[in-house]
Formats: sequence, structure tokens, C-alpha cells
Amino acid sequence: ATPTAIMVGTGLGAKRGVLFKNAMALETSARIQAVVMDKTGTLTKGEPEVTEVIVDGLAKAELLRLTAAVERESEHPLAEAVVRYAEAHGSGRLQASGFENIPGHGAAAHVDGHRVVVGNRRLMEAEGIDLGALAARREELAAGGRTAVIAAVDGRAVGLIGIADAPRDSSAAAVSALHESGVEVVMLTGDNEATARRIADQLGIDTVIAEVLPGDKAAKIAELQRGGRKVAMVGDGVNDAPALAQADLGIAIGAGTDVAIETADVVLMRSDPLDVPTALAIGRGTLRKMR
Ligand code: ADP
Ligand code: MG
Repeated sequence: ATPTAIMVGTGLGAKRGVLFKNAMALETSARIQAVVMDKTGTLTKGEPEVTEVIVDGLAKAELLRLTAAVERESEHPLAEAVVRYAEAHGSGRLQASGFENIPGHGAAAHVDGHRVVVGNRRLMEAEGIDLGALAARREELAAGGRTAVIAAVDGRAVGLIGIADAPRDSSAAAVSALHESGVEVVMLTGDNEATARRIADQLGIDTVIAEVLPGDKAAKIAELQRGGRKVAMVGDGVNDAPALAQADLGIAIGAGTDVAIETADVVLMRSDPLDVPTALAIGRGTLRKMR
């Protein structure tokens, strides 16, 4: 590898806010065959917003009060969206006790003498809670690309909060640019299959790996690397750090968490998904000059 080619490549990247941390990162970029992209905060803006509230057997304000009491104790972006919405709708505040965070699933706590569980379908299954009349509504929300936060009170499902997180403006263009250069694109997410599938369809992504628990993302990357395939991972979250480390090339969204940025080999300062194909193209250009 000629130092000059490395310097030119690094400089080209820096001009576009694509920071290669070392020469190895630049060289690996040229050889990437598949790019795995985290959904929330990478392909989407990571600004979830409540779009609908569906209740079964209690008032909307009561559902929001109970759910927000639990979610106020959580740091999950979905929880923040729920709390913001409840506060904007003046549902009133209740204090939760005995808060339990259930990673990749949701949360639970005691509120006003009731046990309140909020989270995804898998969490309700684990708790032995049947969705009843809400099951069909949950499917509709997911088919529309919404993430449904299910709320259960004392073992009974009582409501759904539909949450939307819009794709970043350039996500679809980034996917098609990667496809044009012969790179496979995979979506990796903890969100449910139907929601992820809908967003993947909007963006032109063929392969979706959904409902992956935070601790399992790195293992999914290792599976994709079988047979020596060179895999890049693009992510923004604390959850993504082990996967970024496992990948041949870890790419962090600049607006992401410090852990993701520290773990990655490349940082996209503009947080623009289109800079993913740009990074790989700069790598290929550098490699050509080195031959
Ligand atoms: P991701 O950020 O990729 O969606 P997570 O592993 O953080 O992945 O969460 C997976 C799923 O678990 C979320 O999509 C959501 O359905 C559910 N979940 C996790 N935490 C919460 C929470 N505090 N409130 C509601 N749902 C949650
Ligand atoms: Mg994310």
C-alpha cells in the first residue's frame, strides 16, 4: 500500500465528512461485499413519533397515564416518544415504582396499585398475555410500518400505541447506489418482522433480519461472514457496538452514540446514509491506485 494513495483517500473522505480511522479501514472498504444496516437511527431518522392510540376497555387518558408512568423511567427512544405524547395530551402524571427494564422487549413497573407491562408482542407472549381484540389492530399497525407498543395492566392487554420513525431522506438512494456497485444490503433490527419488512420494502432492501435481541447482533454479523464474505455494519446505537466490532468494517453514524463512534473504523460525520456507498467507492479508488 503506498502511503500516498492512503493519504489521498483519507483526504477525499475527510472532505465529505467520511472519517477513515486508519489505512486498514480504507483498504477494507474496497473489499466489502455486503452492508448490514441498523434500522432505527441509521436508515430512519431515529425520531419516533406517536401516530395512533388504540384502547380496549379503558379511557385513552388512563392508558396514556399508566404507560407514560412506566416509560418515564426508561431511556429507550420509543419510551421518550410515548412520554412526550402523553404530556402533550395532558393525560396527567402518575409515579411508577419497582421499574424493570427488559432489553429488546420493553419495560414493566407498578403504577397506582397495578402491574403495568409495556413492550412488544414477544414480551406479551413471555408474560402469557393474550392480545385478544388488539391482535388484529397490532398487525395492521405493523403492516403500515408502525412499531406497536403494547400496554397490559394486571395481565390484560388494554392498548396499543402506534409509533412511526420516518426513513432518512437519502436511505433509498444509498441502498440503490450500493446495489449498483454489486453490494448486498441487509437490514438488522430489534423491531418486529412486519414493521421492518414494510420499511425495507420502501427502501428497496431485500434481506431483513428482525427481532434480534441486543446481545445477538454481533452473532448475526458472524453468520453473514461465513465463507469469508467481507461484511460492513452501519449503526448508531450502544446496541450496535458489538456488531460494529465484529464486522470487517464498522461504520458509525456521526449523530450516534459515543460507544458506536469509538468502536467504528469509519465515522460518517454528516449522518447521511449516502456516505456509505461513498466510503466504499473511495476505498475502491484507493486500492486501484495501490496496484
Ligand atoms: P431497536 O432499537 O432496534 O428497535 P431494541 O432491542 O432496543 O431494538 O428493542 C426491540 C423492540 O423492543 C422495540 O422495537 C420495541 O418493540 C421493544 N421495546 C424495547 N424497549 C421498549 C420500551 N421501553 N417501550 C416499549 N417497547 C420497547
Ligand atoms: Mg439504531
